[in-house]
Amino acid sequence: MLKIYNTLSRKKEIFSPLRQVRGKPKGKKVNLFVCGPTVYDFPHIGHARTYVVFDAFVKFLRQKGFKVFYLQNITDIDDKIIDRAKEKKITPKKLALLFEKEYLKDMKSLKVDSVTKYARATDYIKEIISQVKRLLDKSFAYQAKDGIYYDISKFKNYGKLARRTILQAEDGVCRIDQAKGKRNRGDFCLWKLSKNGEPKWESPFGWGRPGWHIEDTAICEKHFGFQYDIHGGARDLIFPHHEAEIAQMEALSDKSPMVKHWIHTGFLTVSDKKMSKSLGNFITIRDFQKKYPYRVLRLFVLKRRVYK
Ligand SMILES: [Zn+2]
Repeated sequence: MLKIYNTLSRKKEIFSPLRQVRGKPKGKKVNLFVCGPTVYDFPHIGHARTYVVFDAFVKFLRQKGFKVFYLQNITDIDDKIIDRAKEKKITPKKLALLFEKEYLKDMKSLKVDSVTKYARATDYIKEIISQVKRLLDKSFAYQAKDGIYYDISKFKNYGKLARRTILQAEDGVCRIDQAKGKRNRGDFCLWKLSKNGEPKWESPFGWGRPGWHIEDTAICEKHFGFQYDIHGGARDLIFPHHEAEIAQMEALSDKSPMVKHWIHTGFLTVSDKKMSKSLGNFITIRDFQKKYPYRVLRLFVLKRRVYK
C-alpha cells in the first residue's frame, strides 16, 4: 500500500488511481501533471530539485508496476519572455525555443528522463480559447478592458487548496493581474488582449495571448480529460496558480476534485532564503555541474525527506 501526502487534505492518503489499464490489475494507470518551466533563462538547482523529485517518484511508480503518463507543460509565452526578448533584441518565440532547448539539455544531463510528453503552451491555443469560451458561456468569466478575467466570487470553493478565504485570496493576487475594470481584486486573467508588437493569436474575444493558469488546464483536458490522479509542482505554485487551475477546471466540468492527489516540493534554500532568480542567490544547473557530477545533485535532493 502506497501512501502520499496530499496538499489538498493536508494528510497522508492511500494512493489509488482513478482509471485502470485494459488487461492490467485495477488501479495501475496513473495520469500525472507537473508544472514545467517558463523558458526565458537557464534553470537553477532550485528548479532541479523539483524535477529530480518527480523524476524519481515517477520511476518509483513505474518500478511498482504503475503505467504512468507524465505530462509537463512548457510556458513559452509570458510577460517575462516578452521582456527578456526585448532586452536581447530577438523575438519572444526565438528566445523561448532557445531556453526550452537549454532546459531539456539540463534535464538530460541530470538524467531526468521520465517525462512522457512536454507540452508547449503555444501548441494548445485552440484548446485554451475553447476553455475561455466555455467559462464565458457559463458566466465564470467576463470581459474587462484589457482581456477576459475569471470571477473568483462565482466559484464557491475558491481557496480550498491554499486554505484561503476570498478576501485573503485577493490580498495575494499577483501584480500582473491588477488591471482596471475587474470585479474582484483576486480575479485573474484568462486571455490578455495584445498590445503593440506583442505575440498574438486570433480569438473570438480579440487578438491576444493566454494567461498563465489556463494553459495547464487546457493541456490537461486534452490529454487526461477533466479529472486525473496527481498534480505536482513547487510549493510556491499552490497560490494563486494551482488554486486558479482548480477554479477553471471544476467550473468547466462540474466535477470535483480535478486532481485526486496534490504533491508539492519544498524550496531549495540558501542561508534560509529561497533560491530564486529575483533574489539573485541562485546557482545554475550548468555551473553546478562544472564542479560536481549530476549524481551529487540527485543524491543531495533525494536524501532529504521530501515525501513528508
Ligand atoms: Zn503550471
